[in-house]
Amino acid sequence: MTEVAAAPPMIRLKAVDKFFGPLHVLKDINLEIPKGEVVVVLGPSGSGKSTLCRAINRLEPINSGVIEVDGQPLPAEGKDLARLRADVGMVFQSFNLFAHKSIVDNVTLAPVKVRKIAKDEARKTAMELLERVGIANQSDKYPAQLSGGQQQRVAIARALAMRPKVMLFDEPTSALDPEMVQEVLDVMTSLAKEGMTMLVVTHEMGFARKAADRVIFMADGEVVEDSTPESFFTAPKSNRAKDFLGKIL
Ligand code: ADP
Ligand code: MG
Repeated sequence: MTEVAAAPPMIRLKAVDKFFGPLHVLKDINLEIPKGEVVVVLGPSGSGKSTLCRAINRLEPINSGVIEVDGQPLPAEGKDLARLRADVGMVFQSFNLFAHKSIVDNVTLAPVKVRKIAKDEARKTAMELLERVGIANQSDKYPAQLSGGQQQRVAIARALAMRPKVMLFDEPTSALDPEMVQEVLDVMTSLAKEGMTMLVVTHEMGFARKAADRVIFMADGEVVEDSTPESFFTAPKSNRAKDFLGKIL
């Protein structure tokens, strides 16, 4: 009889610890995110949410434990790291677009450089992605000519242009004027519906309730709760989560 190995989870963290000097910011994190799942990470400021995201694509080295993306452990450095990092798209609070490049060039650069995709093809894909996030008609402008919400949608298109297996979002709407939050959440919601595996740090509870398959609540570097949005919002188990929800809802 042959044994069929189960598909690996898209993201797996095993016993991950991270210190900043004496500060223990990720404490024995064990987490598996299956392919296609949308996980919202909640927690008070300083609980380690950003560090968790940054560790998953090695912007931040960990002190111990294992992080795997699609069954591949993350290498420490070199070509393999660049390739694996390209599998993990990341969108930050600050959009980090290249100010001196046009919108379409922002979306084209990395695929040509890192993925070695031909320029014509990269441009065609970029235009399709800009269409998808509703910015195609702004493709020749520069970032400063766009609103914050538009720039963040470009940042999402830019991450998608690398054909990532996973998308990490670290408070993608926190720097936006309120009227621009929904247009970015709409793009994220459609991405979730298309089956993208997503880890989303956000304070947008509407998004968490509607789009998340799962909510993870972090406090002091630990995963304190890991449940469905329904049970997290209606019946949080820990006092820390109750306290957190009491403050934001
Ligand atoms: P969150 O995103 O949940 O607000 P962070 O992951 O940014 O939390 O931070 C977790 C803890 O690590 C905080 O106490 C923060 O001050 C600290 N920290 C984050 N980045 C650094 C760094 N580069 N050097 C030292 N301490 C840091
Ligand atoms: Mg943060």
